[in-house]
Amino acid sequence: MGTANLDAVEISGTGWYGQVGQSYVLDGDWPRFEVFEYSRVIDYDAMASREDLNRRRGSYPAIGGGAPFAGDQLITEVVSDGYAWNLQGDRVIRPGRSYLDGVSHADFRQLDILLTPHGFLQAALESDDATAISTPIVNESNGGLSQGGRMVTVISFTALGKYRVNGTINDQNLVELVTTWVPNPVYGDMLFEMRYTDYEEFDGIMFPTVLHEHQGDPVLNPAHNSQEIRVSNVRVNPNVPDFGVPNEIRRAPPAAVNVDSQEVADGVWRIAGGSHHSVLVEFDDFVTVVEAPLNEARSLAVIEEVGRLVPGKPIRYVVNTHQHFDHAGGLRTYLAQGSYVVTHEGNREFYEDVLFHPGLRSLAPDRLATYYPMFTASRRPAPIEGVNRKYVISDGSRTLDVHPVLGNAHTQTMVIIHLPAERILINADMYNAGIPVQPFRLPNMRTLAANIERLGLDVEQHVTLHAQTGTHEEFLQAIAD
Ligand SMILES: [Zn+2]
Ligand SMILES: [Zn+2]
Repeated sequence: MGTANLDAVEISGTGWYGQVGQSYVLDGDWPRFEVFEYSRVIDYDAMASREDLNRRRGSYPAIGGGAPFAGDQLITEVVSDGYAWNLQGDRVIRPGRSYLDGVSHADFRQLDILLTPHGFLQAALESDDATAISTPIVNESNGGLSQGGRMVTVISFTALGKYRVNGTINDQNLVELVTTWVPNPVYGDMLFEMRYTDYEEFDGIMFPTVLHEHQGDPVLNPAHNSQEIRVSNVRVNPNVPDFGVPNEIRRAPPAAVNVDSQEVADGVWRIAGGSHHSVLVEFDDFVTVVEAPLNEARSLAVIEEVGRLVPGKPIRYVVNTHQHFDHAGGLRTYLAQGSYVVTHEGNREFYEDVLFHPGLRSLAPDRLATYYPMFTASRRPAPIEGVNRKYVISDGSRTLDVHPVLGNAHTQTMVIIHLPAERILINADMYNAGIPVQPFRLPNMRTLAANIERLGLDVEQHVTLHAQTGTHEEFLQAIAD
């Protein structure tokens, strides 16, 4: 491979990028974007890297979620000295949480260096716990990797104190597969894997020209292809500047979980305070929470606020709008205390098999994995109320209706929530009230309008799970403009 003579590298190419955690359907892959410019410099000794990825929708279909955007979007990600930040021009930006809600961006980006062929070899040589096995590859078809019948060596070590990194060296002494696992609120220990093929020599160094990335285990879920770069050029040992660490990044306090609630109707509260909101609805003997976003920390804060606003009533139902990671990552906390999860019927299988699996999550165990509460973990079938037509939660006086959404490009398995007496509609990711309408959101807003009409819903107020509350009048005005 030539690793001993390699201190730094600069690669460039083109390819595609998959939006992890934002699939259109659960048996489909991550939604893709075209990467029309890609470059990355890595300083192996400093464990520093800068990646510039310029993406656009290109010819890929406008389905799924993530960051819908108009035109080109340049993403610059840096890691240096154990800190991670993004750049927009000269502006330093703290990386958003996104789907990487269980692992720090700094860890993830350092792993992304350790998963490169030469980064892996250097770290394996320096590791004090590396072990190896020699094994034949029996399978004939192996995703373009070693042919059946050949011997490979798999080397395994611990990186950054806790992550298992495994690399496969084939019978031509080339690294063809490097794998690790990162904690994720939905997947648990989530597979993060690089596959390397079509090696070429650049100044005496062997380097793959196809870099194919997986995030998410194909055994658990078909969605796993997260990036592929076709390398056009490799510069060996370029001068890499010291990226330093911007002061605002080094001194930034850890992200806090804030809760800020506001009564939007009698017995109905919007619980905001972060990027994703929940809605509390009080019934006679119980309460219902709409949406358990992000992660367990968010859920614990929202559950505490629910107990403050409505003391002494159990959270019998938690309604989940859709399966995207940022909207489903907090569900397990409710499950661990016995709530029913009301979601689109199409999400049931994935939730039973993956998200609600009660077993070990070794990298970041949550309550469900740690305490394995018998009353919830042993319930089969799982306490999921699948919605494929109108589903009603009622105590005889108040009513909350859950409706599946039809024709939605964001995801096929979405529900909206309607309070008919209060004339409130709750939605996620289709309409954001109280902020300027971005043109790329109009198709989703029109889909929401069509569903309101199809279902004959009487709506006066929109409570939106990413933004503000607003009137139906404003909504109709926005889609008419
Ligand atoms: Zn979404
Ligand atoms: Zn969202």
